[in-house]
Amino acid sequence: MTGSPATPKPADPVRYTPSPLAHKPRSNSSESIAGAMAGTRIPIPQPGEPPQVVKGLGVSPGIVIGRAIVLDSGLGRVHRRQISPDHVKTELMKFEQALKTSLEELAAFQKQAEREMGAETAKIFGVHQGMLRDKALVGPIRRMIESEMVTAEYAVYHTFQEIAAKFRKIPDSAFTTKVNDIDDLSIRLLRHLIGDTGQRVKLAGDNTIIVAHDLTPSQAAGFDRKKIKAFATDLGGRTGHTGIVARALGIPAVVGCQRLTEAVVDGSVVILDGERGIVIVNPDAEQLEQYRAFIEQARIFSLSLDELAGQAAITLDREPIEILGNIEFPDEVQKVLEMGGQGVGLYRTEFLHLTSNHEPTEKEQFQAYRRCVELLEGRPLTIRTLDLGADKLTQSREEFPERNPFLGLRSIRYSLKHQPMFKTQLRAILRASKLGPIKIMFPLITSTSEFRQAKYLVNDVMEDLADEAIDFDRNIKVGMMVEVPSAALLADAFAQEVDFFSIGTNDLVQYTLAVDRTNERVASYYNPAHPAVVRLIRDTVRAARRRKIPVSCCGESASDLEFCLLLIGLGLRTLSMTSSAIPHLKRLIRSVNLSQCERIARKVISLDSDVQVSSYLRDCARKIVPEAFDDRAGD
Ligand code: PEP
Ligand code: MG
Repeated sequence: MTGSPATPKPADPVRYTPSPLAHKPRSNSSESIAGAMAGTRIPIPQPGEPPQVVKGLGVSPGIVIGRAIVLDSGLGRVHRRQISPDHVKTELMKFEQALKTSLEELAAFQKQAEREMGAETAKIFGVHQGMLRDKALVGPIRRMIESEMVTAEYAVYHTFQEIAAKFRKIPDSAFTTKVNDIDDLSIRLLRHLIGDTGQRVKLAGDNTIIVAHDLTPSQAAGFDRKKIKAFATDLGGRTGHTGIVARALGIPAVVGCQRLTEAVVDGSVVILDGERGIVIVNPDAEQLEQYRAFIEQARIFSLSLDELAGQAAITLDREPIEILGNIEFPDEVQKVLEMGGQGVGLYRTEFLHLTSNHEPTEKEQFQAYRRCVELLEGRPLTIRTLDLGADKLTQSREEFPERNPFLGLRSIRYSLKHQPMFKTQLRAILRASKLGPIKIMFPLITSTSEFRQAKYLVNDVMEDLADEAIDFDRNIKVGMMVEVPSAALLADAFAQEVDFFSIGTNDLVQYTLAVDRTNERVASYYNPAHPAVVRLIRDTVRAARRRKIPVSCCGESASDLEFCLLLIGLGLRTLSMTSSAIPHLKRLIRSVNLSQCERIARKVISLDSDVQVSSYLRDCARKIVPEAFDDRAGD
């Protein structure tokens, strides 16, 4: 699905790609090529390097020109990166410095160990120093940097790996134990060469673009936004939560770039285009000029969008569509309102947990909800209970991580398993409910018994509060996300028990089509326009209408300019989305008739292939509102 409005179209050599996003870069486009990793590390300029254009999945719009910090996957695997002949000297110096620091460190450890544990035990540190002085070990590293022109960290990693592999093959236990020493020394040297991830991120200079193999949503949420202006990763899919965090923070991002980390070194100049899903490493003068022009155009375009924000979302034949915002942090409410949102349709509360080093207390959660209510000034707020698990937090805390976390203990299952934690959240929500119009929504409900259990706990907490004479909204609406096929198929049964539905297409697509939403390798299979998904949406909306309960859509597809024509045609009148998409959606809604949307929906339901549905939606959208797609003529 595409649908971004008039973004300037780049000319060659940057290939234009249709955007997966339904909105455009706004003020988060910036330029500066100030050095990354201010302070301790020297950025390596790459004057003679040829430009490389890497395509990925644009998940958060905006253009940034900056310098890279590359994060390998911990100190595990180090990717091979070539350097230009003029950088051989710098890499050799880096290596000598890391060697010197490691030797000093080992000497200090030896002294300390002698004092605390005796000379015999301290000997090991002497042995390690001897190994690091051994020409047979460090000679090949220096030679590799010189002759193969690779980074110091790769030469260290590769050389130590080779030696360890040789030792492992020798059937003598003396050699096998030496492997541990080799690994230990390799890690020590690498730490001095590339630091650990947390430290390196802290050293970021102004206008840094993080290039990483992968990032968790909490890593992304922890970035210092004053310095880290964009990020790109090798792994990741269109609707993964790391991308969602990027949008929430307004950080342009491209994921699923496959081998980008191999093409970039610290200090490389990088252009990141989060709209088109492009990363240009070592851009030439022409590309830099072209992208500076795009940044300026995006700035002017965003000014014209501000006018739209104040207008009503109403079709040509006067049907109002309620447009709400999705938020992850309370302060995002301001942006939702600025963009013209009428309230919050999805508050992903788990982000309070993801950005905190402890389990948030009832007070902290209550304060967050109260802040939202205050900012919303009487507008509606749907609080989704914790959706932890899968790609969010719990795996790193488990002693035995799950083999298949997206099918594991996530969302409501996790909450039901950790009832004290869940009840704490419910108490905080209920206490906030007396301050403004709040609804409770449960994620990933798959069966009626699961909903009943969760609802039972709400009633339980209500009783506790009543006993304590604490006020709350006794008529609070309790609804559920429809984001797995079982919920959609049983929509009629659910509709008799729940107060409302919100369709979560991000997970509904993943679970209907068996496509991991975070896996770039199967990104082409991830298509909300698949007829199976469309039918599940249709049936959910029908069931809701039959039972007269509200239904909305809060997945990313709600903000897709093509797909939302279908959603409206299927009967949806409330759409909740990332705030930056709101003005674009308003423009589209103000240009269509309800009858056109209904005709589109009827036709789509008669099609049986996702390719047909996608191209039909694309054609319709372009015919109805060509101006929204002016720049997409050549797609
Ligand atoms: C969804 O699955 O569509 C959804 C809105 O929830 P999340 O993206 O947080 O999983
Ligand atoms: Mg979901």
